[in-house]
Amino acid sequence: MQTFGTTSLHDLFDDLVILRNLTPFDQRVPSLVDAWQAMGLASPRIPRKHEPDYARASVWFVRRARALELPGAAVRELLFIGDTAMADGNAFRNLAQAGGWPGWCFIGAEKLSAPASLVADGDNVSLANRWALLADWLATAKAAGARLDQHTAVVVDMDKTAIAARGRNAAVIDNARVEGLHRTAAGLLGDAFDLARVQAAHNELKEPVYHPFTADNQDYLAYICLAVSAGLIDLPSLVGQIQAGLMRSFEQFIAWADGEIQRAPAGLQQIHRAVYPLVQAGDPTPFKAFRRQEYLCTVERFGRLPEQTALGTLLAEQVCITQEVREMALWLKRRGCLLLTMSDKPDEATLPTPEQARQGYLPLHRTPTTAVGESIAARLADL
Ligand SMILES: [Mg+2]
Repeated sequence: MQTFGTTSLHDLFDDLVILRNLTPFDQRVPSLVDAWQAMGLASPRIPRKHEPDYARASVWFVRRARALELPGAAVRELLFIGDTAMADGNAFRNLAQAGGWPGWCFIGAEKLSAPASLVADGDNVSLANRWALLADWLATAKAAGARLDQHTAVVVDMDKTAIAARGRNAAVIDNARVEGLHRTAAGLLGDAFDLARVQAAHNELKEPVYHPFTADNQDYLAYICLAVSAGLIDLPSLVGQIQAGLMRSFEQFIAWADGEIQRAPAGLQQIHRAVYPLVQAGDPTPFKAFRRQEYLCTVERFGRLPEQTALGTLLAEQVCITQEVREMALWLKRRGCLLLTMSDKPDEATLPTPEQARQGYLPLHRTPTTAVGESIAARLADL
């Protein structure tokens, strides 16, 4: 593994970047909020990644994006690259079905301690423990009849796939989020901020056993950790109530907190006044202050270390572009394929505020950083 200079996601995908709110950066492609009727959806509500409506919207984006450059070229097949068998595998299945497209899906999670393996997981989904196996996977798809041309749409998951590859560089993204939480807490709670209590609550409640309570929602988890840190409830009591089935959902928790908030420190009251109305309005990412800190903590981890930094340090401390994904994307692009990337991150965790933009901050996909990986160029050239 080695470094391959500095680049950005924009070099691979231009502005065909779609975040959680389903508003493409490329403004020539209308957002879900503007086009939900044309997409065949029942409302402008933003669906989550696992929902059929998410696939319906994505199919529409893919077709519109293709028509921008090649109005006559119908999309006839799908390639999907991600890092989680469940979430990305199912997103691929839904998307292929909604588009009526044959497709191939690659799920990467590097595990260098095991022998390299590329195994089928059903429905043309392949699980790989090396990102370099992208070349083998493409060869398999080609042998199975994939055209890999202007009729091919290539959807690449952003987080822990195109950047911060799972099994290699992914902890950096998680660390940025946790630091964002700490900074939010320190800034808003002041003297009432207790780092050890925030960490203890986060370590416990991030576990999958609590997903029914947290909905695996990072904003909810952040709010709960801050409520615990500020002393609104102590962690053992909260865990006891969850385990006893007395506290079943985040909605129940924040409604309870609303009745108790008068005895909380001013900083938590301020957070609560900002978050609670958005939760009631159905906003899936209601903790905006936390997400803005997450953006800052993430963008600070792009491209800040010198090129000659040791590889281990680079992968531990900096968000890197996945070189194997980069080479594959450029190779497919040269063959005429349509490429776009999608992320589950909300805008606030991905874009600078207007004030930050004036200071020179860029959206994550336009921020340069180091590409790291193993070159697959020679194997792609043989395909
Ligand atoms: Mg991912």
